[in-house]
Amino acid sequence: MAAVAAGTRSAVAAPEAPEPAPPAEDGCWPCPACATRNTFAVDACTACGLGFLADLRTAGARSLVLPGVGDLTRLSRRALLAAACAFAVVVVLLTAVVAYLLS
Ligand SMILES: [Zn+2]
Repeated sequence: MAAVAAGTRSAVAAPEAPEPAPPAEDGCWPCPACATRNTFAVDACTACGLGFLADLRTAGARSLVLPGVGDLTRLSRRALLAAACAFAVVVVLLTAVVAYLLS
């Protein structure tokens, strides 16, 4: 009895396995805020108005924290320029040290 049921199950399960779910998702992007599926023809969610990949932009802004400098998105232009100049000086000095050691 159990062998018959197992055989029936495998015979039934085999045709169901090839059914692909992803084709229904082609041509759409899911809104991360409300999960509405939008076509790629629109740049913002038709339900809530959130932009395409907007969550990635905000996540990228969070990753601009440098140790010793802080959050680069919160620095003023003058502080950013000073940090960039300090970084350039450090790179030049390290390059000069490496060139001196290798010569
Ligand atoms: Zn939305």
